Amino acid sequence: MTASSRIFLLGSTGSIGCNTIEVVEHLRRAGIGEFPIVALGIGSNIEALAAQEMRTGASFVSIASVERSEQYEGDAAVYAGPGGAAEMIRSHARAGDIVVAAVVGSAGIDAVMAGIERGCRVALANKETLVAAGSLVMPAAQAAGVDILPVDSEHSAIFQCLHGGPSRAVERIVLTASGGPFRGRSRKDIASATVDEALAHPTWSMGRKITIDSATLANKALEIIEAHWLFGLPAERIDAVTHPQSIIHGFVEFMDGSVLAQAGPPDMRTPIQLALTWPDRVSAAGRTLCWDELRSLDFAPIDHETFPMIQLAWDAIRAGGTAGTVLNAANEAAVESFLDGRIRFGDIFTLVTGACEAVRPSRIGTMEDVWAADRAARSWVTSHQTSVMVQE
Ligand code: NDP
Ligand code: MG
Repeated sequence: MTASSRIFLLGSTGSIGCNTIEVVEHLRRAGIGEFPIVALGIGSNIEALAAQEMRTGASFVSIASVERSEQYEGDAAVYAGPGGAAEMIRSHARAGDIVVAAVVGSAGIDAVMAGIERGCRVALANKETLVAAGSLVMPAAQAAGVDILPVDSEHSAIFQCLHGGPSRAVERIVLTASGGPFRGRSRKDIASATVDEALAHPTWSMGRKITIDSATLANKALEIIEAHWLFGLPAERIDAVTHPQSIIHGFVEFMDGSVLAQAGPPDMRTPIQLALTWPDRVSAAGRTLCWDELRSLDFAPIDHETFPMIQLAWDAIRAGGTAGTVLNAANEAAVESFLDGRIRFGDIFTLVTGACEAVRPSRIGTMEDVWAADRAARSWVTSHQTSVMVQE
């Protein structure tokens, strides 16, 4: 990576994608470095893509929806279909480029693998990639000598704090969780919460799927598995704590009793920028902390009774194999059903727990094993979503 690395930005029209473009523009304006965005990848929003192509001057675009790709009128070369992003990377990326992985869901896995194969740094926002396929992705990155730099704010925090001591001296890591809009409520209380209520996140502005995940705490569950793969720690050494202000993003506890924390305002431009410029640190694209406004930092234990997802994550790490794949895919399917109005909020917990019990983990040897488990979990959720509706 140099101050002139090219960027392949996947999920460009989403929350992380748009923030990444802002960071790149800040770095250019401030004279810090050129990070030309040469490729953009999206699902279907071709109107936003056209504006981004003009804004960034990207030469290549990938559009997962074949139908929408046929309507695209930009000048860039188009790679269409679910495999388009990976094909675009295999055709044009080279060692030293950066793949910003900001697609939502397991749909992002193949492009991350393609980036690794091409020797690119991966700035990873797409946590589902590691949750579903960490046992293939991490060894592939290691074999290729490629860095996977976390964009997720908690993992960026842990990554930074880990530089404060040798890895053999790390006792535990702790991720913070805002607690989402339903912090302090009971399971019964939130069983029939509406989509609007679940989307009203108190501190972060993000895409719809991760915002629902924050309301169920599935986001923290996925992040615990993501941390397991990124930092090589077992389940019992990865914990989470509620911290409603979202100022401290993570802690590393060392064996000498010292605890290092990383702090910053809830602004994704900060970890995105660090993933692009690391090991350098340059002037901030995002907001900075205002100490005059900061009054208190609160912490509380996670309410595992109301929010059972974190326990499922620990269980999935211990079970290994496709257990993470199943948890992730069941959650993706359940969240989609909730957003589409087919199930109630509380059904997400029932369906994900049910799928994790019913679809037993198996060994992961190849990506096909991942996709088979992913399909099995989604189909379990689809076939049970009417029968497990929560009782009023
Ligand atoms: P958004 O929903 O805002 O954006 C998702 C992006 O992915 C869009 O560009 C969308 O394209 C694209 N996309 C959707 N489906 C597909 C598909 N099948 N194939 C290719 N591209 C697709 O999500 P976020 O930006 O909030 O989140 C992106 C990822 O980053 C998630 O994994 C999330 O967990 C993670 N993350 C996000 C944070 C945040 O603050 N937002 C914080 C930490 C992690 P289109 O617009 O065409 O639908
Ligand atoms: Mg996070």
